[in-house]
Amino acid sequence: MNWTQKTLRKDIDCAGIGLHSGVRVTMRMRPAPPNSGIVFRRIDLDGAEIPARQEHLRRSNLAITLANGDATIGTVEHVLSAAAGLGIDNLIIEVKGEEVPILDGSAAPFIYLMHEAGIRVQKAPREFIKILEPLRIEEEDKFVAVYPSDRFKISYTIDFEHPLIGEQRQTFVVTPRCFTEQIAPARTFGFLREVEALRRNGLALGGSMENAVVVGDNSILNNHLRFEDEFVRHKILDAIGDLMLLGAPLLGHVVAYRAGHSLHARLVETIQKNTDAWRTVTWEDVVYDIASRRPYLVPAHV
Ligand SMILES: [Zn+2]
Repeated sequence: MNWTQKTLRKDIDCAGIGLHSGVRVTMRMRPAPPNSGIVFRRIDLDGAEIPARQEHLRRSNLAITLANGDATIGTVEHVLSAAAGLGIDNLIIEVKGEEVPILDGSAAPFIYLMHEAGIRVQKAPREFIKILEPLRIEEEDKFVAVYPSDRFKISYTIDFEHPLIGEQRQTFVVTPRCFTEQIAPARTFGFLREVEALRRNGLALGGSMENAVVVGDNSILNNHLRFEDEFVRHKILDAIGDLMLLGAPLLGHVVAYRAGHSLHARLVETIQKNTDAWRTVTWEDVVYDIASRRPYLVPAHV
């Protein structure tokens, strides 16, 4: 378990195009002090800062857009997922543009860059959100829920009425190694028949087979998938990034069925509102519980 906060050792740059805007953007990830969280900085807008937290959520359809006043930053979920996956708590992400570059549509390039910069362990303890009571949100036949667990675990099921996808389910206990090897490489995906409609609405302008798995009626247009179940793995990647908007790492088992960004964002909001359903813990709480022979992390009100 990662009990202390982390940041990067040094600045690292990348450049690419925005998935929806189609415009070239540059990005620099920089170390940040303990307890500062992850903050986007629009250097093309006088350095306007947009913290990666639920209260700055502007839109959650197709991708996550955050805002602070007039400043917005779009498609933040994959870089947030990479940070969460490696246990990075504090980061400044400077972006020259209105969207995080999509790169190859997965979180693998961000993981590569973060490893290149190196990870600095900070002295401050991590404060986890430890789920004590289940929380569940339903929307038609879709749902997302979180249950008590001593680890951060995700079980996800998708079910697309498409012969090449169908039902896929996958469960991971999210550790840096599992994230890097099993989750980060999974790319975003889109259906060819929906691309025209998206483009008429000024979306997916930067989308191509370089940065997404494109699903036609009878075939996958890219030559190969990175995993047989790459689709459900990418949904897990998205969920990990979206949950980063809690502002603290989670100890709980997230279970999702046919969910997406907007349901993930509603789960974050529900966790934040239901303060009786969790408590924050640090390593000191665990040491105290073990030393006093109390059951590990019992609900505070018992
Ligand atoms: Zn995604």
